[in-house]
Amino acid sequence: MHVEIDWTRCDGHGLCARLAPEMIELAEDGFPIVRRGQVPDAAVVHLKRAATACPQLALRLVKD
Ligand code: SF4
Repeated sequence: MHVEIDWTRCDGHGLCARLAPEMIELAEDGFPIVRRGQVPDAAVVHLKRAATACPQLALRLVKD
């Protein structure tokens, strides 16, 4: 499983980084930076919450 961000939708609210800090941090411009690689099991719940809460519905979890 990995994380994808639709950059045509994301407008840098930053909520995702607050809800899933294990996998997402914010760049200086406020846009998210997703850590590369597989999502650890412990972070899946947080990422699902972030995807649901994203105001732009720009974040999604993709099964590999
Ligand atoms: S919460 Fe959504 S819109 Fe906001 S920075 Fe994250 S992906 Fe982008």
